[in-house]
Amino acid sequence: MTKIDPHFADELKKYGAKDFDACFNCGNCSAVCSHSEKTVSFPRMTLRLGMLGLKKDILSSVEPWLCYSCGDCTETCPRQAGPGQYLAAVRRYAISEYEPTGLTRLIFKNPPAFVAVTMLIAVFLGFFLFTLKPEHEVARWIFNWLPYDVIHNLGLVIFGFTGLSMAWGVLSMIIRLNRNDDKNVTSKVGIFKAIWMVLSEAGTMDRYKDCDAEEDSHWRGKPWYIQPWFVHWSIMWGFIGLLVATSLDFIFKDPATTIWWPSRILGTISGLFMIFGTSQAINYRWKKVTLIYSESSPADWTFLWFLWIAGITGFWLETSVALGADNIATQLVFLVHTIISMELVLLFAFSKFAHAFYRPIALFYHYRNQA
Ligand code: SF4
Ligand code: SF4
Repeated sequence: MTKIDPHFADELKKYGAKDFDACFNCGNCSAVCSHSEKTVSFPRMTLRLGMLGLKKDILSSVEPWLCYSCGDCTETCPRQAGPGQYLAAVRRYAISEYEPTGLTRLIFKNPPAFVAVTMLIAVFLGFFLFTLKPEHEVARWIFNWLPYDVIHNLGLVIFGFTGLSMAWGVLSMIIRLNRNDDKNVTSKVGIFKAIWMVLSEAGTMDRYKDCDAEEDSHWRGKPWYIQPWFVHWSIMWGFIGLLVATSLDFIFKDPATTIWWPSRILGTISGLFMIFGTSQAINYRWKKVTLIYSESSPADWTFLWFLWIAGITGFWLETSVALGADNIATQLVFLVHTIISMELVLLFAFSKFAHAFYRPIALFYHYRNQA
């Protein structure tokens, strides 16, 4: 039975959707969006679902995840319904519905709570880090009133909690997409081919490149390396490269002074990409270069600044190691770097970051029906 929620539009507005219910279905947004195909009439269709209060249909749809927030539709909407912002809000809503703890809901709907949670985690991570250096003077002071084992074990539980929440969210999304999967498409693309198409999109961002193709687009004719698709590519691959480099470092116990070790080279190149990408993205949001960049949520800012600080402090540490500088400034930078990096990992399941899992899954289902 189809359930209609009359308060759904108001709920989506709490996640950042504007006056999307002002939409009068003219179709301009679908006409201008390069991802609107014969099988996917979006963003118009998803707007309809939101206006009708069809919550379940939204949560079992791949469409919100096919959008790259280029904002072309928003620029052309005669009703200022903000279809681009609407889709971003739907993605936030979906992340908070897939994830089971309610923490994402709190973070997205309540910016002060988000700041409080972030600060709380930062303080706790600071304590947790000292459990790795129990002989440190500050660590000894902390353990006087909070036992080492409590902090250390709690830290491990929190990391496990994040991993389980993410796994639950992914499973929840897959179950819903499966239910909604088009059974009428008999000649589906093979599973391996669909996976290949997803990986290829992650590598080339070809779909993202299709955005901003309009004659009057702000980005048309601009160098490729400053275009949003490349900024996104730089942030994504920079972060993945840094994760791989850190893991290799950890597994092979890379001697910290060996700059030419492969994982160090990978880390350096990835760090440069990430700093470049985040600097550009922060700059675009700061200068509000287009309509879509002019409305940034606290979660958008925090996510970008965290990545940027993690990159910059990472290079500080690399340089300090190379120069053999072990002083109080470097120790503080190390603390900041590690807290921010761990916080990014901890908030993975509960923040905008989670789209790194959800979008590829949606793309997989989308490609499967593309025969
Ligand atoms: S362009 Fe605006 S009014 Fe027209 S269908 Fe899209 S959202 Fe609705
Ligand atoms: S923001 Fe861009 S990609 Fe998303 S629906 Fe609008 S035009 Fe399409």
